[in-house]
Amino acid sequence: MKFLPKLENTDLRTKLFLVLAVIGCISNAGGFIANIFMFGFTSETTVCGASLLIVILAFIYGVITGHTYRATIMILIVLSMIEFPILYLAYGETTIVYMLVAEVAVAIYIKPKHRVIFASIIFIVDIAALIIRHLFPELNKANGDTFIMTLVALVIAFFSILFTIALVVMNYEKQTAELSRMSEELLHSVNTDPLTDIRNRRYLMQYLSAQLAGMTEEKHYAVLVDLDFFKSVNDTYGHVFGDKVLKMFATVAKESIGENDLIARFGGEEFMILFATDSIPEIKAKMSMISSRYAEFSQAEKGIELTFSAGAAVYDRDSSIKEIFTTADKRLYKAKECGRNMMVME
Ligand code: GH3
Ligand code: MG
Ligand code: MG
Repeated sequence: MKFLPKLENTDLRTKLFLVLAVIGCISNAGGFIANIFMFGFTSETTVCGASLLIVILAFIYGVITGHTYRATIMILIVLSMIEFPILYLAYGETTIVYMLVAEVAVAIYIKPKHRVIFASIIFIVDIAALIIRHLFPELNKANGDTFIMTLVALVIAFFSILFTIALVVMNYEKQTAELSRMSEELLHSVNTDPLTDIRNRRYLMQYLSAQLAGMTEEKHYAVLVDLDFFKSVNDTYGHVFGDKVLKMFATVAKESIGENDLIARFGGEEFMILFATDSIPEIKAKMSMISSRYAEFSQAEKGIELTFSAGAAVYDRDSSIKEIFTTADKRLYKAKECGRNMMVME
């Protein structure tokens, strides 16, 4: 019973196999009983009974070995290539319903690489049955009223198709939802720095490039931040605390900037903030808020006041990403040279 314990998570083909086997058993058992009552033990009764037996055996084989696709093929061959054409010779139009259902089943159940050949064989066999019945009308046994037989055939066909298509559609919707959840997760992880959970450099570049393309007359500021003496923070307090500092800096910076500003981890202990303004007082106010919260945090943790240095570059629609980064980097270097714990804006 390879798949039964995990039926809930089992793949669509296995579920379809179960549906096909159940429908095959019910319809053949029904056909077998109806044939006995209506015509006694005829050759068609035997065909129904033999088909029922094969479907049951294929079902058991699929369940025990887990080779459900092979079992599905066995069931479809017996029903669509042997049973239905033979029954058609005797019962005519009533069986056409089943023949059509068999083609639908092939389209849904059979894997693409086998589908065309399978469908073509059924088509040829069905046409052959049609010709034989036309040439030998004496084979016809359904001379009387076929109302009940046709009604039963239609009901079975209706529910088989409805149930199968509902299963396929439900599976498709589930997979689509799963796929869109996975692609959202993927997009998030591709654009996010795993340590600090803020945007990464990749996202920053895309964002900046889109922003430059959409700018009109306005000017914005990019501020490159580098934490001061971070190597000695690591050396003195350990790498784990170093990571904590990086996370804390990212958090306080994110909380201190505006909704339209963006902070990203540029690499190592460097961050870039894109301010959606060229108001220097506003930028200075936000940067000094970050500075004091960063110092407060390190004071509370280790009794030291950590600082950072920054270099700012103003940009407009004519700027290039390279220019912005180079300018901000040069000014950051200047801030470091001038003693750190400051922001150079020109
Ligand atoms: P300066 O003031 O001149 O910037 O000195 P600094 O020590 O900050 O500069 P340096 O570039 O020498 O050191 C940066 C350090 O940042 C070295 C590296 O080990 C550390 N670092 C980079 N990424 C991480 C990280 O993800 N976690 C931790 N804990 N440390 C990191
Ligand atoms: Mg650095
Ligand atoms: Mg540094």
